[in-house]
Amino acid sequence: MTNHPHSFSRYCMHCGERLTSAVPEGDTKRRLVCIDCGFVHYLNPRPVAGTIPVRDDGACLLVRRAIEPRRGLWVFPGGYMDVGETAEEAAMRETLEEANLEVAGLDLLGVYTRIEPGVVVIVYEAVAAGEASAGHETSEVGWFAPHEIPWDEIAFDSTERALRDWVARRLRA
Ligand SMILES: [Zn+2]
Repeated sequence: MTNHPHSFSRYCMHCGERLTSAVPEGDTKRRLVCIDCGFVHYLNPRPVAGTIPVRDDGACLLVRRAIEPRRGLWVFPGGYMDVGETAEEAAMRETLEEANLEVAGLDLLGVYTRIEPGVVVIVYEAVAAGEASAGHETSEVGWFAPHEIPWDEIAFDSTERALRDWVARRLRA
């Protein structure tokens, strides 16, 4: 997952004046509002898309993070969507970049909100097509059966929640 802190400018993108915190007319929440032109700067979460690739024997692929935050911990391949691609395309692209793995048959597993960094993680179960290897921003790949998931070394709360849903789905199947 690409490191992309949730940051924002303190200055108006239209006129360059300072922003202040205020409740705009007709709104119910405090927003960043330009003190000069009145433009409201909404802060919206960023969508992240990823896959839990599964191979023939039922094991899923995780990658070990080579970058901060949570360097050295395990996560499924995923990252920020680019403008111009669908969530499925972003998930497949990130899987190729981070694990050198082609996937197919994407099946939505769940959507997981991380409040504090302001991201919404869209997770697909996918069919692994071929072998994987460490790629961009990862140091290692590993295949884990549902009972082998390294729960003590999982990178993010959203990673754990998605993997628990995946394990529950596997046990039902
Ligand atoms: Zn302004």
